[in-house]
Amino acid sequence: MALTQEIKQQFAQYMALLEHPIQIQLSLDESESSQAMRTFIQEIASLSDKISIEETSLPLTPSFSLNRQNESSGISFAGIPLGHEFESFVLALLQVGGRAPKISSEAKERIQAIDQELHFETFVSLTCHNCPDVVQALNIMSVLNPKISHTMIEGGTFKNLAEEKAVMAVPTVFLNDEEVASGRMTLDQLLDKVSNPIATHSFDQKPCFDVLVIGGGPAGGAAAIYAARKGLQVGLVAKDFGGQVIETLGIENIIGIPYTEGPKYMNQVKEHLNQYKVDIIENQTVTKIDSNDLITIDLESGHQLKAKTLIIATGARWRLLGIPGELEFRNKGVAYCTHCDGPLFKGKRVAVIGGGNSGVEAAIDLASMVKEVVLLEFMPQLKADQVLQDRLNSLTNVKVITNAQTTEITGDKMVNGIQYIDRVSGQALSEDIQGCFIQIGLVPNTDFVKDQLDLTKFGEIIVDEHGATNLKGVFAAGDCTNTAYKQIVISLGSGATAALGAFDYLIRQ
Ligand SMILES: Cc1cc2nc3c(=O)[nH]c(=O)nc-3n(C[C@H](O)[C@H](O)[C@H](O)COP(=O)(O)OP(=O)(O)OC[C@H]3O[C@@H](n4cnc5c(N)ncnc54)[C@H](O)[C@@H]3O)c2cc1C
Repeated sequence: MALTQEIKQQFAQYMALLEHPIQIQLSLDESESSQAMRTFIQEIASLSDKISIEETSLPLTPSFSLNRQNESSGISFAGIPLGHEFESFVLALLQVGGRAPKISSEAKERIQAIDQELHFETFVSLTCHNCPDVVQALNIMSVLNPKISHTMIEGGTFKNLAEEKAVMAVPTVFLNDEEVASGRMTLDQLLDKVSNPIATHSFDQKPCFDVLVIGGGPAGGAAAIYAARKGLQVGLVAKDFGGQVIETLGIENIIGIPYTEGPKYMNQVKEHLNQYKVDIIENQTVTKIDSNDLITIDLESGHQLKAKTLIIATGARWRLLGIPGELEFRNKGVAYCTHCDGPLFKGKRVAVIGGGNSGVEAAIDLASMVKEVVLLEFMPQLKADQVLQDRLNSLTNVKVITNAQTTEITGDKMVNGIQYIDRVSGQALSEDIQGCFIQIGLVPNTDFVKDQLDLTKFGEIIVDEHGATNLKGVFAAGDCTNTAYKQIVISLGSGATAALGAFDYLIRQ
């Protein structure tokens, strides 16, 4: 559990920024996890003379809370915040110690206006790269409003509590003991759950953009940067900034960057975007496009935006199996992200559906965490690269079933089995499992343009070599198009192509 010398040095530098002393209240018992937490907190306290420790009793043991002198911040950590949560811990210390959180003035106003007692609990795993966003947002809310408190609960340490509350996905957020949310969420999205939305964008004052990009993944980011660099007036509207890349832990194929992680990379894309005058409109979903002299887009929120050209870069989402149990047990055993949710299935038997690269990678990943993996593939053979299949075959706790047509995911409160038909014998069979990871590919997010744009039979927008669609002034890029391969660098390139295509179109008008 010991922190490396390098981390200690960095940590000490951060702690030099503390403006007020911090008291850490520790709730411990004789368990091994309590002793590990004591060692961790003692090590942390030894790195700053502004941090003191007091042993006390808190609702969860082992846990600790961060407090200013004689004043609770409302922030607690149940479980040691290492891994992806170490940053959340450092930020919480800095904020409790007087450093202002870096959020918009509108968000701060919304938090401070909340006038009811809210206690949040977030179940996390330390390998979940989506969890820190939620933990950090709820910690900020606690720091800024004394009526709000938040406890991060590490699912591995509190396995029984996670089971009791039927938590099978992280992050899962409880508010005053009621489950209210699951999955990655921004501060604004969390605030929407507890306070009246206030207009963070004044839509009436939006200009008619030269280029309006829909999508905040690599294709949308690249398109907006390229268009802005041409001196055009650019807007970018996205449901969630980051796209699929946020779901990706290790990325090793962005040329010139030997290794990065999805959230880190998309933060860099956002920083890059912020160097230009791009109007980024987040948390907005486009439901319709209309094209006359100008292009009008309708947003789910009821607002409209206008532009001379449009670049659609809405990417793709996980394909659903379309069988009973899949939606009913989502986050109750049905999962998609092995890095995030895998640790919650420790000691359990889980299924992976899909024998392509993602399915086999998921099975390999899970095999190191769970008791046994059952991999089901519809075709007679797995479709994954041979190198992955070799690795899979070397594992002793993976059972591969081919020719399996999955028909139902069963369960009561949580998943307890999977039913399938053996396509050779026609026999109906089943496996007892407690989790099911679905990895059968992706579908393009193009439903909202299916009546206006030419699509392939897979629903991909058909574009020419300039990124142009069949509709005048409308371009498309990335995974939502009929590009041959779906990868980050390919999306970046096609975003640039579509922006240059839009620029050429505009100068010819
Ligand atoms: C688990 C996983 C691992 C991967 N690993 C790698 C890897 O290691 N290397 C690699 O090169 N590629 C990898 N990929 C593929 C890569 O992530 C995609 O090719 C890439 O993200 C596509 O970028 P995009 O911008 O086209 O779409 P996306 O990244 O899907 O972004 C789409 C954007 O559009 C927004 N959006 C969607 N619909 C709407 C709407 N109606 N209104 C407003 N906004 C909307 C979304 O919120 C999002 O911001 C991986 C993909 C997955 C799922």
